[in-house]
Amino acid sequence: MRVKHFKLFIDGEFCGGRSTFEDINPATGQVIAKVEEAGPEEVDRAVAAAKRALSGPWGKLSVSERASLLHKVADGIMARFDDFLRAEIEDTGKPVSWASAVDIPRGAANFRIFADQIKTMGVPAFHQDTADGLGALHYVSRRPVGVVSVICPWNLPLLLMTWKVAPALAAGNALVVKPSEETPATATLLAEVMRDVGVPPGVFNVVHGFGPGSAGEAMTTHKDVAAITFTGESATGQAIMRNAASGLKKLSFELGGKNPALVFADADFEAAIAGTMRSVFSNCGQVCLCSERVYVERSVFDRFVEELAKRASELRLGDPFDSATAMGPLISAGHREKVLSYYELAKSEGAEVVMGGGIPEMPAEYAAGSWVQPTIWTGLSNDARCLQEEVFGPVCHIMPFDSEDEAIALANDSDYGLAAAIWTQNLNRAHRVAAAMETGLVWVNTWFLRDLRTPFGGSKASGIGREGGEYSLNFYSETKNICIKHN
Ligand code: NAD
Repeated sequence: MRVKHFKLFIDGEFCGGRSTFEDINPATGQVIAKVEEAGPEEVDRAVAAAKRALSGPWGKLSVSERASLLHKVADGIMARFDDFLRAEIEDTGKPVSWASAVDIPRGAANFRIFADQIKTMGVPAFHQDTADGLGALHYVSRRPVGVVSVICPWNLPLLLMTWKVAPALAAGNALVVKPSEETPATATLLAEVMRDVGVPPGVFNVVHGFGPGSAGEAMTTHKDVAAITFTGESATGQAIMRNAASGLKKLSFELGGKNPALVFADADFEAAIAGTMRSVFSNCGQVCLCSERVYVERSVFDRFVEELAKRASELRLGDPFDSATAMGPLISAGHREKVLSYYELAKSEGAEVVMGGGIPEMPAEYAAGSWVQPTIWTGLSNDARCLQEEVFGPVCHIMPFDSEDEAIALANDSDYGLAAAIWTQNLNRAHRVAAAMETGLVWVNTWFLRDLRTPFGGSKASGIGREGGEYSLNFYSETKNICIKHN
């Protein structure tokens, strides 16, 4: 296979960086591409280009013109669907069934929803009674925040990048975007689409690289960056917050999770099993919303464990491009080390390994890939590290509970607060338990069902702020109150 070359995209041009690094296919361990790395100098050029773009033709476009350009970006993604699909699968090893249904279509949908929403967003207005009896009209206008740093993770590269890029552009900002060093491919393709549909130079810049001492740190400390939107680990969020503090930058953080699933005895058993299979093992457990803690009412606990283990053992691992493949590898050898260290830790913490817990036997072409077995544990107490720390792999722990109150207490006993899944057919219980969850999202009898207008984000260590619909557009806008006194 020919090794590709991914460059930086600054001011509408593809260009080199200060050094290069390798992009690896995690299914095979092969090098896919040589990638240009940006350091502070390249980030400075990208920020300067973005700043210029704000006062150029981009800054003068009407809202409708911006929206129609964003629809063209969505069209451009769909026109090159197969290129995006191949690039995402090679970069992440995720199965084609998931990438073609989720990652790429959502990449395009993110542009369409925010393009449409920015056109219909109202302008709040207030009448104030004043002492002279004539009154005043207040209204709220919006302007872009300015130059926004967009820092992305590797698990859903195109989906999560466009989830930020689309509303930030809809609101009129200019961007410096960094995909994860593990997954630079689809950001590079998106830069081509932006150029080809006529997004003006400097509006969308891509810098590749790492965090500390590299592009990421420079994007969070640069004096002309007004806002930072970040998705990734909670510890990285803390580092970014520290770096951004001196510039008092506006922040939006979507961080890690240790998400609970609560299965009540009155649940539709088949739906709960099928839903939990998805919520634990989708994308090899590498979705921030995946359930790593499953709590099951004692009367159905044994049956649930047995059935989940049976189905997990039938998950087909293998060629990510085969539509019958259900699970790919982890993102990298380094991440596999981390996941395997939790597989070992679980045993030393006293877990019973119901299934998995190691490295699967794979055909020769995948021998150098980052594969792990789907894994199920039982028998730990809720304060075990394996039940408190995010593993981010295809693994869950299943624990029995005896009452609704106990289930709620166990679910909330976490530093994280991203998403909970509740499985019950009792409507009153669904409302009660949903209201009690200390999370930003609650699914009842489903998982991963999203309406992009709704708020998305986490509480506690899982995030700061909400994105989605107007929540995103508000973050990427500065609102201004204008008061007009009546005469
Ligand atoms: P990560 O924090 O290691 O890296 C994310 C990005 O931050 C990368 O682009 C990386 O280069 C950059 N980065 C690292 N250190 C930095 C620094 N000091 N300054 C600036 N940038 C820096 O996360 P990851 O491993 O790529 O992604 C997995 C994590 O993301 C998991 O914890 C997962 O739960 C979380 N996640 C959360 C959501 C959500 O919506 N809440 C969605 C997806 C993933």
